[in-house]
Formats: sequence, C-alpha cells, structure tokens
Amino acid sequence: MKMLLQDAIRKRPLLGDGAMGTQLMLAGLEQGNCGEAWNLTHPERVLAIQRRYVEAGSDCLITNTFGGSRIMLNRHSEADRVVEVNKAGVEIARQAFNGKDGYVLGDIGPFGGLLQPFGEFTEAQVRSAFEEQAKALVDAGADAIIIETQTSLEELLIGIEAAQAAGSKCIIGSMAYDVTLDGSTFRTMMGVDPEHAAEFMEQHGAHIVALNCGTGMEMERARDAVERYKQATSLPVMVQPNAGKPSLINMKIVYDETPEQMVKGLVPLLKAGANIVGSCCGSTPEHIRTFRKVMDEFLAAKEIEGDGGLRESQNL
Ligand SMILES: [Zn+2]
Repeated sequence: MKMLLQDAIRKRPLLGDGAMGTQLMLAGLEQGNCGEAWNLTHPERVLAIQRRYVEAGSDCLITNTFGGSRIMLNRHSEADRVVEVNKAGVEIARQAFNGKDGYVLGDIGPFGGLLQPFGEFTEAQVRSAFEEQAKALVDAGADAIIIETQTSLEELLIGIEAAQAAGSKCIIGSMAYDVTLDGSTFRTMMGVDPEHAAEFMEQHGAHIVALNCGTGMEMERARDAVERYKQATSLPVMVQPNAGKPSLINMKIVYDETPEQMVKGLVPLLKAGANIVGSCCGSTPEHIRTFRKVMDEFLAAKEIEGDGGLRESQNL
C-alpha cells in the first residue's frame, strides 16, 4: 500500500505543483468564468496542464477544485454539479500521473464570503458545503485534502472537520499570509500569525501545516514562515509561494519572478525543513522543472554527505 503523504515526506521532501488558475487562463479561461467546471466541459485542457507538471517532476498535484464547494459553484449556477466537478478533478489529476505513484491532493479553497455576524453565511451553510466537497474528493480517491488560501482559523476549522468527517487520511491546512505594511512581519488578512496557525492545526488534528499564495510572501519570507512553523509544531510543513508579484500587462495578469529567480530561494527553504515545496499563482511547469533539478541536486548531495558520515562511523 502507498505510504501516507505525511509519512512519506518525513523521509524525503517532495515536490508540489505550480499554479492552476493562471494556467487555465493561458488555456483560454476568461476572467470571472468557472475554471472548476472545466473538469467536466474541457477535461483535456485541465489534464494537459497537470501532465506538464508531472513531466516537470511534481510528486503532488492539487486538484482543480479550488472553487468546487457548493457556495462557490452556485455563483456560476453550477451548484447542482458539486459531486461531478470534484470527482472529475480527482480523476484528471490521477490520470495526469499516468501510473506514476504521485499524491493527489483534493483542493478546498475558501467559500468566498464572510461568516456571520460579519457576512451573510451561517456556519452551518459553510460546514455543509465543505462536507459535501470533502466527501466527493475522498470518495473519488484523493490521497489528502488541502484546505488552502485560508485567512481565518474559524473557516479553516470547518474545513478540517469536514475532511475528518469525510474520512481523509491526510489533512493539510494552508494559510495565506500578507507582509505587513512596515515589512516587519506577516499575518493573514484576519490577523493570524504562523505560530498560532500551526498550534491550532496540530491541536485540531491536521497532518501537515502549509502556506500558499499571500502578498509579498516570496521565497525568503516563506523560509521565515517555515522556521516559525517548525518552532511551533512538529508536524511536517508544505510551502507554495506565488511567483512574485502580479501586475497587469496588456490586460493580462503577469507574475514577475522567473524560474531562475525563484529557485534561488529553494535550497534555503529545504534547509529550513520544508517537506513539500511547490508554487502558487503565476508559476508554470518551467518553474517546477527548475525546482526539480535543484531539489534533486540538493538531495543527492545530502545523500553523499549521509554516506560519508556512515562510512566514517563504520571505520571507527
Ligand atoms: Zn496563489
């Protein structure tokens, strides 16, 4: 049987994937349209994106189900297809691995609103939407559930509990941090810092503590976050920063970090103890390919070091 993701990454770090949203737009999805519905209407395009990530070296693929909860799909009048959209998302990712033993991470993004009393959604509505989505992802064979781009612990907890109710064997909580105006630190939009998030996730039964997306959270800041996570928890850590900052060029959103720029931050991240490294908005298969090369070199060098150490001790 395949090793659980949280166990596999304690032995050896794994490579995640890159962006989905910006890749869907490159493949013709128009801003504001429902990218998750493409799992049913244009599965070959979603598959092509994920195949490129696998070819580039990804060990983990996040399903194209970020906005696949009933509340999100309802905004595109797709709420009657929750199960189909999520099931297809898992199947496409599995197919992209083409028999390779990779991990399919079933994606649950934010429900896209605020909970009462700040917003119009009740906790019960969000819970039922996340439970429905998590069950569809787990039933379709997802190896893990990732509740991502989270800014509030309240919503994160509903996601974690939904994944538990669905029987997910691996649950990842992933926060989106923003660097503060004075640049001194980072926290989520709702004021959550990494130590607090990590302790909260461990306490509530998540298996992997993660971060993704965010503002100003480039590779160096992500390294700081890994260090802070590691001080607060013994759980493994996953990081997927954006490919730099977005800007609007010719009415298209472009991210400014090339694979060569971004990969400079990879070894420090691995040295800080990151167990899964991938990338979020704006990244491409080329970013992942560049990560793969540097990560393999890093791991090979570490192995030689390890052998050397072993031989030395045997000589004693
Ligand atoms: Zn992102």
